[in-house]
Amino acid sequence: MDTSLTCPSCTSRNVGKVGTGQFYCWDCYIEFSMSYRGVRMYSVERDGELTRIDPLTGSEGALS
Ligand SMILES: [Zn+2]
Repeated sequence: MDTSLTCPSCTSRNVGKVGTGQFYCWDCYIEFSMSYRGVRMYSVERDGELTRIDPLTGSEGALS
């Protein structure tokens, strides 16, 4: 690992870098990006598309 980042969702350290400022959590299977404006989280669909997870409304599936 070349990073000491933790996942903003589950705080796992099992995080890999996938791009510039973009990371992937292998524990909860989300992608997230870090910037001066904060953290943005995305769920990765099976077809590879990213879906924004809005932290204000909770992660998807929170009501299920
Ligand atoms: Zn995680």
